[in-house]
Amino acid sequence: MKKRLMIDLDGVLNNYTKYEENFIPEIKEGAKEFLEKLYNSEKYELVLFTTRNFELAQKWLKKENIDYYFKEITNLKKPASIYIDDRALKFNGNFNETLKDIEKFRVYWENKKNYAR
Ligand SMILES: [Mg+2]
Repeated sequence: MKKRLMIDLDGVLNNYTKYEENFIPEIKEGAKEFLEKLYNSEKYELVLFTTRNFELAQKWLKKENIDYYFKEITNLKKPASIYIDDRALKFNGNFNETLKDIEKFRVYWENKKNYAR
């Protein structure tokens, strides 16, 4: 049985810098190859996890020619082996460390030197 990966769209698969309601930025360099490797390993079922409008997200996947890799698009948290998200903190069981991590948290794309690739 394949493990499910829930993969976020904005900030993971695209060159996201700010939210625009009817526009999804272009695909991030390396994203297609990343999805292809996961898909071809036959170990994972890929689910696009996004709060974006469903039709807009679907069109974007087709436009970027990566719709084939995804089993579905959802905005619901489903049971999954791994969630891949630019706004996630990894909880390690320690609330005090998590409080510190929350204060320090920055999305990687806010830091220009990490942004491009
Ligand atoms: Mg995101």
